[in-house]
Amino acid sequence: MPKPLAIPDLADEVTLARYPFLPQAKSWIASMAAKHDVDIDELLDGSMMDRARIRARSRLIDSVDSKDGVEVASIGDIHTEEGRLLEAFSFYYARLVVGASEDERLISRWAQAEAERAQRILEKDSAIRIIANTYLSEIECDEKGIWKIGLSDFIELCTGITGSRWRLPNCEIKNGWVTLHDEGDRYSSRAKVARLLRERMKEDIKLDALEKMSKMDEGLLIRLSEPVGMIRGLVASKTAETIALIGAGEEDWPPCMRKAVAELSQGVNLNHFGRVFLGSMSRCIGLPPETTVDFFRNAPDFSESTTTYQVNHLYEREYTPSGCSKLKVNHNCAVQTGDDKLCDQPWMDHPLKYIRAKQRRRKRQESLEVPVEQPKPGDG
Ligand code: SF4
Repeated sequence: MPKPLAIPDLADEVTLARYPFLPQAKSWIASMAAKHDVDIDELLDGSMMDRARIRARSRLIDSVDSKDGVEVASIGDIHTEEGRLLEAFSFYYARLVVGASEDERLISRWAQAEAERAQRILEKDSAIRIIANTYLSEIECDEKGIWKIGLSDFIELCTGITGSRWRLPNCEIKNGWVTLHDEGDRYSSRAKVARLLRERMKEDIKLDALEKMSKMDEGLLIRLSEPVGMIRGLVASKTAETIALIGAGEEDWPPCMRKAVAELSQGVNLNHFGRVFLGSMSRCIGLPPETTVDFFRNAPDFSESTTTYQVNHLYEREYTPSGCSKLKVNHNCAVQTGDDKLCDQPWMDHPLKYIRAKQRRRKRQESLEVPVEQPKPGDG
């Protein structure tokens, strides 16, 4: 990984509080702890750190619950010392909790959510330059705001990113540099740098948490068991939701899913939104990725390797399907009013709700069906 040999100096406390995982933030957090007498007892149980623990909980919950990652806004004003203290130590506490969970999947999920949050801030933050120079050895920006990145960094980082714009044959490469062209509102050059940086920030956040995990002693594990229990419970309830949907037979599928599968099997092209929807629905109801790839076999542009890659990506990133309103806007809803009683219900706003409702109805039906005894021969 061609990281810079020397990390640039960074003294701006607002930036350090916004991105508390930066390597430059370590000594700053230590100095803040010394200045405000924040030791491990204060962080875990002290009243001064109450709000930091509340913010840490919401950081953790967002990482499990929200598909958009951790909430960008902090609960304090980051331009005040108190706000910065809150932001920095909430991150620190959240990292301790995920480390104490000893659950590498949870750690990855949290790192992903924190990195997504940082990416969204970086898209508008002038600190992007210094942060880019912290994580990338070859990165430049010209006077027009067009960024270039060294080829080896680009190759390494874009393997985890989907989309044709990240594939080398579609990039402008000159003398070992890749130009990140501006695509206006669709994808600015700066947004592309933020997206690439997300990959490296995620890796760093994850490695730090894994290191914390390896150093966790028994006493700390016990003291953190309550917040760890909270986050584990949340993960378990999410998993249980997925499991409840597993085994949904074709008769339970919502019309939009049946339409997508039927159209593909007839060789009709499905728009991008519909493809992502079908892949994420299949994942949620427990279909194996191979079955999902099979849905696309008759698509006009089917390629085994590309589809397998894209489906695996959806499964690994745990995509969840969009709701009815987005499906309607993107022409993927299959019904008009009156076509399907369930879809007409005022509460119907998500295809997964459709499956749940179908399953529940079927169960109710089964419990009402009393087996009818066949008359025995000789019965009057
Ligand atoms: S209303 Fe919702 S569940 Fe029903 S077909 Fe349209 S998108 Fe699917």
